[in-house]
Amino acid sequence: MKKSLKKLSALKRSKLFSRRDFLYLSSIAGAGLIAGCAVHPVTGRRELMLLTESQEIDLDRQNSPHQISADYGTTRDQALNNYVSHVGQTIAKTTHRPHMPYSFHVLNAPYVNAYAFPGGTIGITRGILLDLENEAELASLIGHEAGHVSARHTGQRMTRGLLAAVVLSGVAVAAGPDMGDLVSGLGGIGAGALLAGYSRNQEREADSLGLEYMARADYNPEGFVGLMSMLNEMSGRDESAMAVLFSTHPMSSERYRTALDEVSAQYEAQKKTRPIYRERYMDNIAGLRKIAPAIQAMQDGDEEMMKRNPKKAGEHYQKALNSAPQDYAGNLKMAKCQLALQNNREALTYARNARSAYPEESQARHIMGMANLRLNNFDRALEQFNAYEKALPGNPNTTFFQGFSLEGMHRREQSAQKYYQYLQLVNQGEYARHAYTRLQEWGYI
Ligand SMILES: [Zn+2]
Repeated sequence: MKKSLKKLSALKRSKLFSRRDFLYLSSIAGAGLIAGCAVHPVTGRRELMLLTESQEIDLDRQNSPHQISADYGTTRDQALNNYVSHVGQTIAKTTHRPHMPYSFHVLNAPYVNAYAFPGGTIGITRGILLDLENEAELASLIGHEAGHVSARHTGQRMTRGLLAAVVLSGVAVAAGPDMGDLVSGLGGIGAGALLAGYSRNQEREADSLGLEYMARADYNPEGFVGLMSMLNEMSGRDESAMAVLFSTHPMSSERYRTALDEVSAQYEAQKKTRPIYRERYMDNIAGLRKIAPAIQAMQDGDEEMMKRNPKKAGEHYQKALNSAPQDYAGNLKMAKCQLALQNNREALTYARNARSAYPEESQARHIMGMANLRLNNFDRALEQFNAYEKALPGNPNTTFFQGFSLEGMHRREQSAQKYYQYLQLVNQGEYARHAYTRLQEWGYI
């Protein structure tokens, strides 16, 4: 007998979104996003604010953990993270919203990127730290990101459509999944949409605020010019390691020229007297500099993965692992590369290495789950996806793969529940088609 859809609807509500989350979502997405007028922290004018401050903080808390995990987690090098946090908190005090719950994360990702979530979670990759030359440049970078937070740029971009995309789609927008993410089934989660595409005007405003904040914190404004000059040069080279950064922060030579003009117009005196702290910076990133060749090799590997050449990528990742064998990102990247090459046992081994290097970070779990699926170890795969979901709840891809593992274990009823939950969150793409087809075949639809 055909089971009715009603029965499925009556199935336990997805754990992905509690009733409270749904109410929260409908309150913003449904009711037209009205948070009302408030005084803009930067301009001082009364403006329409699409998100209240507590909504900004909620969005940050719900989404930033997924993005941080996609970027291979916060470094376990406490001294490095403390140093960046210290510079960050110094800048935070000079912003227009010093009360925001700022936090600073050195991300294990080798590519060049930095971003801010609307509540003040700021991520800076190892790749970009290696490209900066002094603390004044780091302060400028953080100032720019804090500028996006202070000027409430995420809220400005929020529309009903975008918000729905952010929370529900499970599609990566900011980075665009590279081949490693595609084969690993991890894809991205909507968190990226929160970071995607600031307008040129917002970039200009964040630049101007970044300069203001770093100067208020007594850094030499030359650091700001140095940062802009570095970014400007890199944007011309169009390296894939940089592509992520420029998809979230459009760059133009105009921004560099503006920095030059503003600094010479406003800070001529400070340029001559204030420190840029080059030595202090180099001392603090000494550990990172030691593995710079490994980071470079990972960037080269990523480039080959994007060109869909996993064999070549593997050679670069191997080089990275030769000089930094315990590196979490290095091992996970190699695991994804092996998945792309259909070397599933090798993939499992590298993912296990990654996991023992960094047990509290979740992405390795997902990759172990994928490798187990490929090896038809459905019960072990399910264990990994369940553990991932527990540690980092709310990624629709996990729900799909829980369903897929259950299907492999012939636990049809439970599999159908997961597929149904997935379809409530994502309704296009290959996974959605698979889930829908199964529900049809099994008589649920
Ligand atoms: Zn920006």
